[in-house]
Amino acid sequence: MKKDQIAFGIDIGGTNTKIGIFNTEGKLLSFRTLPTAKSEDPSHFIEQLAQESDHMLASELQMKLGDERIVGLGAGAPMANYFTGSVEHAPNLGWKNVPLKKYFEKYFLCPAVIENDANLAAVGEKKWGAGKDLTDFILITLGTGVGAGLILDGKLYRGYNALGAEGGHIIIPHEKKRLCSCGGMNHLESYLSAKGIKETISELTHEEWTIEKLGSLFRDGDLKATAIINQIATELATGFVSMGVLFGPQAFIIGGGVSKLGESFNQVVKKKMDEMIHFSLKGKIKIITATLSSDKGAVYGGAAHIIDEVSK
Ligand SMILES: [Zn+2]
Repeated sequence: MKKDQIAFGIDIGGTNTKIGIFNTEGKLLSFRTLPTAKSEDPSHFIEQLAQESDHMLASELQMKLGDERIVGLGAGAPMANYFTGSVEHAPNLGWKNVPLKKYFEKYFLCPAVIENDANLAAVGEKKWGAGKDLTDFILITLGTGVGAGLILDGKLYRGYNALGAEGGHIIIPHEKKRLCSCGGMNHLESYLSAKGIKETISELTHEEWTIEKLGSLFRDGDLKATAIINQIATELATGFVSMGVLFGPQAFIIGGGVSKLGESFNQVVKKKMDEMIHFSLKGKIKIITATLSSDKGAVYGGAAHIIDEVSK
C-alpha cells in the first residue's frame, strides 16, 4: 500500500450520516456530518454524499473523486448485507431492497463494501484500535441501539448470509418485562440502549439524567448512581456471560456513547461477569473500552475494511 493513498469511511445512521477520509495508517484527514435524507429512492442521497466528499477532497487534499490514490470506501448502514451488497429492509430509513454497494461504486467511482455499523466498528478496532493485538473479541456498541461485531480467529464473523452476530438481541433473564425496538421481549438492547438506560434511571430516581451525569455521580460515590450502575452492569454482564461461554473471546470491547462511563463501569461489569460465568472462564475475559472513538467507530472501521479488502 502506497503512502499517499486514502480511503473513505461512511456511517449512515437514522438521523445523521458521517463521512471520514483516512490515510492508510488510520489517521483521520477530513470529517463531515450531514443529515440523512429519508426516501424510498436513496440513490439521490448517495449522489449528494459523493458531491460532499468531492468538496472535502478538493478543499483539504487537492484531489477529486476518481483519483487513483483513492483505495475505496467502506460504508455502514442499518441491515447492510456485505454478501449481497444490498439493504433488504431498513424501516428507520424507509429503505427496501436498496443496492447500496452499487450506488456507492457508481457515484464515488471506486470499490465499495457495506456492512452493519457494529461489524465495521469491530474491524476498525482490530486494525487500529483496542483489538489490534487480539485474535478473538466481541465489540459491543451501546448507543441508540445495541450492536455486536465478532472477530473470531482474527476475522470478522457474520454468520450465514450475514444474519448473525446480533448480540444486542440476546435474551436477558429479568424480573421485569421490557419490549425491544425489534418487537422482542427482554433483549439486551431493551436495557442497555441509551433509551433502556434512561428508562432504568427514571425508574430508580424518578429523574432524567444524562449518561455523563450518571458517570460523574457514580465516580463521586452517589448511592443512587451506584445502584443504577450495578443494575445495568449486571444486565450487560448477563449478556456477556452467554456470548462469552459460546465464543471464548479474549475480551469484550465496549464502544458507543455509553462507553463514556469508562473504566470504573468496566470494572463493575467484569466483577459481575466473573461472578456468573462458567468456572473455566472466570478471570480470563477482559473488558476494554473502544479506543478509536465513541461516535466514529464505524467511520474508522469503514476505511479499515476497504483497505483490508483491496490488499487481500
Ligand atoms: Zn431485540
